[in-house]
Amino acid sequence: MGDYKYTLSEDRIPKHWYNIAADLPEPLAPVLHPGTGQPIGPDDLAPLFPMACIMQEVTQEREIEIPEPVREVYRLWRPAPLYRARRLEQVLDTPARIYYKYEGVSPSGSHKPNTAVAQAFYNKEEGVKKLSTETGAGQWGSSLAFAGNLFGLEVNVFMVKVSFEQKPYRRALMETYGARCVASPSMETESGKAILAEHPDSTGSLGIAISEAVEVAAKNDDTKYSLGSVLNHVLLHQTIIGQEAMEQMEMAGDDPDIVIGCAGGGSNFAGLAFPFLGQQMRGGKKRQVIAVEPAACPTLTRGTFAYDFGDTAHLTPLVKMHTLGSTFIPSGIHAGGLRYHGMSPLVSHLVALGLVEAVAYHQTGCFDAGVQFARAEGIVPAPESTHAVKAAVDQALKCKAEGTSKTILFNLSGHGHFDMQAYTDYFAGKLKDEDYDHAALDAAMADLPQVAAE
Ligand SMILES: *Cc1c(COP(=O)(O)O)cnc(C)c1O
Repeated sequence: MGDYKYTLSEDRIPKHWYNIAADLPEPLAPVLHPGTGQPIGPDDLAPLFPMACIMQEVTQEREIEIPEPVREVYRLWRPAPLYRARRLEQVLDTPARIYYKYEGVSPSGSHKPNTAVAQAFYNKEEGVKKLSTETGAGQWGSSLAFAGNLFGLEVNVFMVKVSFEQKPYRRALMETYGARCVASPSMETESGKAILAEHPDSTGSLGIAISEAVEVAAKNDDTKYSLGSVLNHVLLHQTIIGQEAMEQMEMAGDDPDIVIGCAGGGSNFAGLAFPFLGQQMRGGKKRQVIAVEPAACPTLTRGTFAYDFGDTAHLTPLVKMHTLGSTFIPSGIHAGGLRYHGMSPLVSHLVALGLVEAVAYHQTGCFDAGVQFARAEGIVPAPESTHAVKAAVDQALKCKAEGTSKTILFNLSGHGHFDMQAYTDYFAGKLKDEDYDHAALDAAMADLPQVAAE
């Protein structure tokens, strides 16, 4: 059968994160203060984030050193393995070579601890006692719960209500790591109360949960806010994925023509793709780079590239990104981690520059691919990750139709062991391919803030 698994020794865990800002042909648009419309400075963000993370938001340095205590924790599961999906290739009868980087080997089962550990470390260093955050499907909440516990921080998680009800085991995992988890919208914040007054049956959204978590951090001196995706420093922390994958592709004697990741806020996609894109922008090989999103929340493919708020209650600064409007609430599809109205400014910028392409898929097609993958490769993908699997399968079938042999690399961002209800629903034929609500999208887009600087 030939080689199919590429592992690196612990001393190959990268010593630096890769900062793509150093290689961009055009800089990112500045982050704006929602009141003044002027670019914000580090001090404006100080109530919410530790200074180390704020400086990582804006630095132009290409390599950022990973603190040794963070690498020490990474050793629990890193370097993550890279696999060649030989059995899937056989099933598809494709001339393409398919590889995947598997991030499901982390304690919480996804890529998210890569940044959770770094953020917990920097907060601890700066004397913070408590972290406040939101979670969609529960992946981020459980990752921060794990990391916060290691560094002795109290963690409070606002979990989107639909997931809180669908995924009780994720909540149990957060509690196992010692975190506190409440359903959002909640009665614990002004933002939550305002939503509930208007929509008592609200199933919540990431935008609402972010408002609640930000509010708690803004009102408490000993508490900072922690975000699991979207921001530059979060994407930065994920670049160890792509750096390891580059070395492993070399071990395999191969080089990807196509690089794929699913995109909710953009962090696992960026983590794999940015080191490859950086190489390309510095004169290296040109690759096809694809971000995959759900058709029910089509931020990159149907959204507008404009300044918007990161949350529903408009407590965050304005960032320029692809957005469906901060009041847009996507339908309750199972890939909860992909249900965000916005997209990371860095990924949005790269799409606008034509360096990254975006596709959107309906969920049943993604589960078809996820089940096909599980039966061939043994790993059950998280519902979010099935979007990347589907794109890889489609590209491999395209190679077959065209009679071309390409090398495809995708990020398997996590396993689906806590999401088996989604698979049960899929097998029972209960999954619906909901499109987004066109009227709701129009209404949310009409609410976009007016920004003079544009
Ligand atoms: C959270 C999550 C995602 C989506 O978030 P990104 O920041 O876009 O990576 C994708 N896959 C898994 C398994 C997740 O937990």
